[in-house]
Amino acid sequence: MKSNVNFSKFYKSMNVKEKKYAIVFDMNGVLFSKSECINDNFEAKPVLTGSRTSKIIYLNASLQILSLFFESHSFYKIAWTTMMRKNCECIFDQLKNDFNCSFDKLYSQEDCKEGIMTGNIKTKFCIKDLRVPAENFALEIENCLLIDDSRGKNVEGQNFYHFGKGKNAMIEVLKYIDKFIECEDENCLVKKFRD
Ligand SMILES: [Mg+2]
Repeated sequence: MKSNVNFSKFYKSMNVKEKKYAIVFDMNGVLFSKSECINDNFEAKPVLTGSRTSKIIYLNASLQILSLFFESHSFYKIAWTTMMRKNCECIFDQLKNDFNCSFDKLYSQEDCKEGIMTGNIKTKFCIKDLRVPAENFALEIENCLLIDDSRGKNVEGQNFYHFGKGKNAMIEVLKYIDKFIECEDENCLVKKFRD
């Protein structure tokens, strides 16, 4: 279901500083894993289950750092999965309510464009086109970024960061986002991780 809210107009009317950027996080493989402990980044304990998803979910061990980053940096936080909405809403809610990882918006398979099924891509509706959040939040598409552990789900030419499997994958992506959103706070939590 598409939102008809014009956030730009809303913020102007509220006299609140507009957010300029939107960062889109893939869910499975970035925020959590559906398969048991795929690597060291994911805590090997089942912490999330949903009434409509019988599978156990393994959370990214660095989710707490992500939530601290969210609290201290201003941008639209979006989660986008190729799971069907009925299967991901409960996980989305638990990320917010139980793990303080609060997103502004959830997009699911129903918001994806048609693509080609290859490798681990299990649905043809798998393309996460950044024009969707750009239009929804009235942003320049150049100010939107997709973070995904799959390479086949982004639109060629749009901003894309491949989320790796390394031990410091979350820190690395937060450093990248910090630069992308032009964070000027020299004391913010990711600056100490600078190379
Ligand atoms: Mg993924």
